[in-house]
Amino acid sequence: MFKLGSNPARSREMALLIVDDMPDNIGVLRGMLLPHGHQLFVATSGQGALNIAAQVSLDLILLDVMMPGMDGFETCRRLKANLQTREIPIIFITAKTDTQDIVEGFNLGAADYINKPVRMEEAQARIQTQLQIRSYILEQREQAERMRAIVNNMAEGLLIIEADGRIQSSNPAADYLFGYAPDQLQGNSIFDLLDAAASQEYRQYFKLIASDGSGMQTQQHGSREVQIRHHGGTMLNVDLSIMPMFVRQALFVGLLHDITRHKLSEHALRREASMDALTNVANRRHFDTCLENAWQSAVENEQELSLILLDVDHFKHYNDTLGHQAGDRCLQQVAQVLRTVAPPQDALVARYGGEEFVVLLPDTSLDDAYALACRIQAGMEARQLPHPASTCSAWVTVSIGVCSLQPHAAMSSELLFLNADQAMYHAKESGRNRVCTEFAPTEKSA
Ligand code: GH3
Ligand code: MG
Ligand code: MG
Repeated sequence: MFKLGSNPARSREMALLIVDDMPDNIGVLRGMLLPHGHQLFVATSGQGALNIAAQVSLDLILLDVMMPGMDGFETCRRLKANLQTREIPIIFITAKTDTQDIVEGFNLGAADYINKPVRMEEAQARIQTQLQIRSYILEQREQAERMRAIVNNMAEGLLIIEADGRIQSSNPAADYLFGYAPDQLQGNSIFDLLDAAASQEYRQYFKLIASDGSGMQTQQHGSREVQIRHHGGTMLNVDLSIMPMFVRQALFVGLLHDITRHKLSEHALRREASMDALTNVANRRHFDTCLENAWQSAVENEQELSLILLDVDHFKHYNDTLGHQAGDRCLQQVAQVLRTVAPPQDALVARYGGEEFVVLLPDTSLDDAYALACRIQAGMEARQLPHPASTCSAWVTVSIGVCSLQPHAAMSSELLFLNADQAMYHAKESGRNRVCTEFAPTEKSA
């Protein structure tokens, strides 16, 4: 059970004010109360009592009724009329024992009545009872204040929701998450503020729980990711936990945890895991996944699928003569040419490994793939990156194999790659710096 710390109200010393115009009477009460360790104040007039009550935080006033000048009833009336002192419990101590007087005292807001002459034990018990009630009220108030401070300052959004989805109250974090001004969220339906799937799910859950009060304690909904509708119209990702409770009616406590930032980093991580760090195009793993998906989709839609496989010519010599770092920069240049020539909406460019790159082209004919490959080859040569050790050009060049086929369910996606590799091999064999297609090696010399 969640405890809010020790109980300061109970351990606090209680402050009592004795009001009587007769010093002897004050003496009797003081003598009785002193051994209990209370903090005692005395006043000999109504005005004196008001003065002390204005300055000290009192827990109980023992008030004589018959006093010269302002009597006890009037003093009580004034104490109750003042916001600062109205909640201090008052016990009248008086010889006025007519029912009418007693009733008037209670009507004025007195907590109790003790007759004079004071019977010690009875007075003691009545005073003790009032102090206990006072202590309990203070304790409850402090507890509520601490709860309020926690709820108002917590980072999680908190909603109290009725069974029909109506938001009964929200804390500032929830207002902020939804983009509403304080108290504006109240009265809205949670179902209008959630994405369609979550809304449907919670609608059923609320209905189920509200119709079966016995399950209130156990059937927590747990935490799940949902999208909420921000006041500005955008959808935000949050974790939502819903707990049922029963306070005169079925209610639900909703806890909202903003995961937008977490989502962004998750997206960034996923992106990073699918990218090649050196060239900033997709890596082989991502390509493999995309090939499978594209293959399936081509089978289903009976579309052609094309693949371009590209290998840098004499790259080992390039590294050997210009150094590995220059080799890295060269690979970045190749990737840049590929990105420029093959825009991402039509093609997936990936580094397959080493100095080999692939371009996957869904719904693309061999002719179109071949034309694109030629633009890549030309684009690469046009960069005029000097290659002192190449036997086929003064510049860095590439050999390209192109394959295109219409996948069937019985074929394996590997076939596409094998055929493109075969075509690339032909390009190498027949002199490099050229594009070949798999079935009839078509040449395009530099
Ligand atoms: P070919 O024209 O027949 O393709 O000859 P090649 O030299 O390009 O082919 P080979 O497979 O013999 O050599 C590939 C070279 O690519 C060897 C390897 O050091 C280099 N290489 C692979 N990955 C990287 C890399 O990330 N950075 C650099 N700088 N070089 C790399
Ligand atoms: Mg190679
Ligand atoms: Mg090579």
